Amino acid sequence: MNCWTRREFGCIAGATCLTALTPRAVTGQAKARIVVIGGGVGGATVAKYLAMSTATVDVTLIEPKQHYTTCFFSSLYLAGLRSFESLIHGYEGLAQRYGISIVHDSAAIIDPVAKTVGLESGARLPYDRLVVAPGIAFKYGAIEGYDEAATQTLPHAWTAGPQTMLLRQQLESMEDGGVFVLVAPPNPFRCPPGPYERASLVAYYFKQYKPRAKILILDAKDNFFGQELFQDAWSRHYPGMIEWLPAQFTGGIKAVDVKGRSVKTAGDTFRAAVANVIPPQMAGQLAQDAGLADQSGWCPIDPMTFESKLQPGIHVVGDAASAGEMSKSAFASNSQAKVCAFAIAASLTGSERFPPHLFNACFTIVAPDDAMSSAIGYQAATGAIKISDFFLSKVGEDAETRRRLVREADGWYAAFTKDVFG
Ligand SMILES: Cc1cc2nc3c(=O)[nH]c(=O)nc-3n(C[C@H](O)[C@H](O)[C@H](O)COP(=O)(O)OP(=O)(O)OC[C@H]3O[C@@H](n4cnc5c(N)ncnc54)[C@H](O)[C@@H]3O)c2cc1C
Repeated sequence: MNCWTRREFGCIAGATCLTALTPRAVTGQAKARIVVIGGGVGGATVAKYLAMSTATVDVTLIEPKQHYTTCFFSSLYLAGLRSFESLIHGYEGLAQRYGISIVHDSAAIIDPVAKTVGLESGARLPYDRLVVAPGIAFKYGAIEGYDEAATQTLPHAWTAGPQTMLLRQQLESMEDGGVFVLVAPPNPFRCPPGPYERASLVAYYFKQYKPRAKILILDAKDNFFGQELFQDAWSRHYPGMIEWLPAQFTGGIKAVDVKGRSVKTAGDTFRAAVANVIPPQMAGQLAQDAGLADQSGWCPIDPMTFESKLQPGIHVVGDAASAGEMSKSAFASNSQAKVCAFAIAASLTGSERFPPHLFNACFTIVAPDDAMSSAIGYQAATGAIKISDFFLSKVGEDAETRRRLVREADGWYAAFTKDVFG
């Protein structure tokens, strides 16, 4: 495994647009009908990059929501460091600049024999190639008492939108001196540093407005991504405010009491003023219903093309995919989507295929002037996706480096959302 320097990391993190496909050539061929299900990071990127490709295609993107709200940077909104509106992105760019047909509906059923997608409205869309990118679903019931109704009292806020706003309202109305309990999920889950970044940013909010409040993280795991970096940041910025209890200490998270607003572990019951319960996860429901997921709950794919190993002819990208050692992140979903778009375009045009380059990079903000970063490169040549290059910030970096990373994170958000949504 190689280790990247900070300079090389900067190149990777800023390189989201460099892999753009060449503009579509005008040919006399019949157009291939590409249907993409899910207008999140993975689906929107596949749709855009296929529409830009040299292949002759008609691209349709199915997404029930009128706008997409990013999970990434949503904890900055919880901290009061970003507006909710700044997280929202429309689909007009994809429609107007790239000619993608946007259908605001939910895909209800996939018929892989007839090659059609049935929509909740009753309409049926035929396809030549199908890409499925539904993100995640939650394993309700894995924590006793935590079902969909419970999310209205104990929000997960792990898909962005009303849940994020609800959690912010609860933080605002919480009394000073209360305990914010954050339940962190088992692996694999969306955004490995996410729960700990959220704890950091909620601590920042408390430091401003509720300095006697405490944060208790009840973890389903015994360690987490970037642990040393987070614990260093917590001791520097929020001494005595954040306590992390691993599963080996509590015996694991067993149940919630919604009315009592409490979380039960094997040995204790923890009462919360506000509880943010992030449950175990699996591929989005449509992927489960369509037979794309295996017993792990995620969708096995061929890493060269992101074609399903269970349903040939259907591709899966983003968090729903079981992509070897790749994290479930927006950056990774975007990288997978480009590989998938190239593979589909290559098979339609008969052009040469290249071994895919897959990346993940992440900025994690722990205070308004302190961010850390990670960048990971992957190889997919041996049939599995494995880490080949790795960079992670270090404990003890100087304050200016950390301040610069906050500025770079802002720039990344703007460039990345432009790359995804046009
Ligand atoms: C708090 C938090 C912070 C994060 N921070 C970062 C970060 O800093 N960097 C980073 O890279 N990643 C981050 N992530 C992770 C990132 O948000 C996800 O990995 C990414 O959104 C996954 O993209 P996706 O396309 O797979 O799923 P999504 O973006 O969730 O998109 C799925 C889409 O599919 C649609 N859909 C579902 N079912 C259907 C259906 N049946 N028919 C039609 N449409 C359907 C949904 O409406 C949704 O729009 C963070 C996540 C969280 C929760």
